[in-house]
Amino acid sequence: MPIPDKIYALAPEMTAWRHDFHAHPEIGFEETRTSEIVARALEGWGYEVHRHVGKTGVVGRLKVGTSPRSVGLRCDMDALPMHEITQLAYRSKFENRMHACGHDGHTASMLGAAKYLAETRNFDGTVTLIFQPAEEGVGGANAMLADGLFDRFPCDTVFGFHNSPKLDVGKFAIRPGPMMAGGAFFDIKVQGRGSHGAHPEHSIDPVLTACQIVTALQSIVARNIGAVDQGVISVTRIEGGDAYNVVPDTAWIRGTARFFKPEIGKLIEDNMKRMAKGVASGFGATAEVDWRLIFAPLHNTPDEATFAADVAAEIAGEANVERNRSLIMGSEDFSFMLEKVPGAYINIGNGDSAQVHNPAYDFNDKLLPYAAAFYARVVEKKLAAA
Ligand SMILES: [Zn+2]
Ligand SMILES: [Zn+2]
Repeated sequence: MPIPDKIYALAPEMTAWRHDFHAHPEIGFEETRTSEIVARALEGWGYEVHRHVGKTGVVGRLKVGTSPRSVGLRCDMDALPMHEITQLAYRSKFENRMHACGHDGHTASMLGAAKYLAETRNFDGTVTLIFQPAEEGVGGANAMLADGLFDRFPCDTVFGFHNSPKLDVGKFAIRPGPMMAGGAFFDIKVQGRGSHGAHPEHSIDPVLTACQIVTALQSIVARNIGAVDQGVISVTRIEGGDAYNVVPDTAWIRGTARFFKPEIGKLIEDNMKRMAKGVASGFGATAEVDWRLIFAPLHNTPDEATFAADVAAEIAGEANVERNRSLIMGSEDFSFMLEKVPGAYINIGNGDSAQVHNPAYDFNDKLLPYAAAFYARVVEKKLAAA
């Protein structure tokens, strides 16, 4: 089945929602206007609506028939704190606020699917619509999970998508297993003892110690991680001292690590702590590592990845579905939901647009019917009447 006619018919309405969201971008956990528009629309179509799941998140549920089966659909709603440079008629009305990742389009397309599903009711079971806040590194998925998302609204499986610049509109891309990297941020505090710069013999130099730690950390990638596993450690900031002639008391090493397997993330964390402490100890200093997991690796369960690819192939044709796309070093916090419930995340082409997080980016409205059809057909196929 290609895109259903009834979804094509919703394209003008989805486009209007999308342009309205684009003009009124709200960053993580501030999506009060967006989530209220979503909640009221869902209520109008007969969904059971739950506000404030994960602060500004919204959950909508619709049960049709008698089956106990359930499927979750997830989108993100937040914008970024950056300045839009497009001259679009619907460009951001606010300084330092921009829908530069396409979450305006993600939300609009899931609303389109919601309206279609409520009108057609061509399934047997419960659909749970998860409108997530704060995807951009500030913990929206975990906030919803902490509020009992899957305990209060059980889902057998859960599905989501992200638009993909440079992939043609009408094309889908996915892979089973790991698809996007996990990401952690780290801060290492190196504590030494300050002195006059002319008398380092009176110091325990934290700057020299920090430099040795930075060099040693790369041995984790080179010597501790197996060559077939991917891992990245990037020290991106070093701080310490204020003067040319003073050895400071402390120095800081900050950066990010990326990896595709949770156990490799743990391996990097454990080795980093041991290495930092050990190297510091050799210099008579101490080191403390603060490691914060921001994104889990995104892992598609194989059956659901195949199912999502089959849905995409129905909509767009097998030739337009890349079933084994390359790994993505970027991260996505839907990964935390996929740690709890089987499911899959798919990319849908945004065409020849600027990259996401670029001030010239815009979501491609031609994608809306493809995304809405993907969401809707996932439900109709997963919860097909017996
Ligand atoms: Zn983003
Ligand atoms: Zn995004």
